[in-house]
Amino acid sequence: MTAPCPCGRLGPDKKPLPYARCCQPWHEGPSRGQAPDAEALMRSRYSAFVMDLIDYLQDTWHASTRPESLAPNEPGLKWLGLEVRRHQQQDTDHATVEFVARSKLGGRAFRLHETSRFLRDPATGRWAYLDGDLHS
Ligand SMILES: [Zn+2]
Repeated sequence: MTAPCPCGRLGPDKKPLPYARCCQPWHEGPSRGQAPDAEALMRSRYSAFVMDLIDYLQDTWHASTRPESLAPNEPGLKWLGLEVRRHQQQDTDHATVEFVARSKLGGRAFRLHETSRFLRDPATGRWAYLDGDLHS
């Protein structure tokens, strides 16, 4: 698949990375769920939101805060893009990512500005989304 990744990550040449070389390996196949850092995991979760990959969103949600079920996107909802503003790793197993995600529904534009907390499981090396603070 050569289509640009929904998360909009740019390669070293400043061109959008294809999905196959960006979030897809974390979504499916032998490396599923093994995004190497919190930013990669966050991006793969945004792409999963865009693509309605509910199982992936559940699997990458920390067990302590994971919702019992997730609803698919509202019909007509359009994700417009992701902007990662900051990625900070506090230590081996803790990181935060500040991002802005934009979407549109029924002619209205929405903007989600959040700093998310991520935890890494030392046993498996896998990152998971814990929770986040919304910015106004
Ligand atoms: Zn991506």
